[in-house]
Amino acid sequence: MEDKIKELQRLVDEASRIVFFGGAGVSTESGIPDFRSVDGLYNQKWDYPPETIISASFFAAKTKEFYRFYREKLLLNGIKPNAAHLKLAELEKAGKLLGIVTQNIDGLHQAAGNKKVWELHGSVLRNYCTRCGEFYDDSYLRENPGEDGIPRCSSCNGIIKPDVVLYEEPLNERTVEGAFDAISNADLLIIGGTSLTVYPAAGMVRYFKGNNIVLINRDPTQSDEIADLVIHDSIGKVLSQIKVT
Ligand code: ZN
Repeated sequence: MEDKIKELQRLVDEASRIVFFGGAGVSTESGIPDFRSVDGLYNQKWDYPPETIISASFFAAKTKEFYRFYREKLLLNGIKPNAAHLKLAELEKAGKLLGIVTQNIDGLHQAAGNKKVWELHGSVLRNYCTRCGEFYDDSYLRENPGEDGIPRCSSCNGIIKPDVVLYEEPLNERTVEGAFDAISNADLLIIGGTSLTVYPAAGMVRYFKGNNIVLINRDPTQSDEIADLVIHDSIGKVLSQIKVT
């Protein structure tokens, strides 16, 4: 393991345009559950699987039930960036990191201080009125659950929808283009906390034209073979050992 950290340190030292691509594993170390993982919870408590609840058609048809799940599983309170987020912020500050492409929706990279973050699946910190487009932050949703469990716009009474990409919805084109652009300009791609099986993660890697791909994940993935360096460990533990010069 020590040799692998040394090798990662060498790659980071030599790189000047690092892009980090992160998945759920980056957030789980901040105590955020991966709602897609089968924890049996929904069997006891929810009448539908999470993938069904977090879908556009479900939001439209059963908005109240959507928000019941959303509040408990996604709109979390008091979460903090972990060692992985903090190291990535340090790398950006040092001018070595081009940006972060993430599948997470918790806003923790920005909380750590990163400016260039492409959130492929949106963010729970942004919400919009479906009628007039008025913006609402996450605290508005917490403080205004709505009389019927559905948060509404204070000016037009329209239903508020999180700026989160639901199942059945396309990704935001500009975000995807920004992510492609960053990845194609990177000289080092570090992938962490994802098995790369979720669209569009696997396809994005093909845009990389740089020298090395590093894959950091607790468990082996089907994509290990695409990486020049594979580290099976906690992303926070690994990145915290890297020195930024
Ligand atoms: Zn409105």
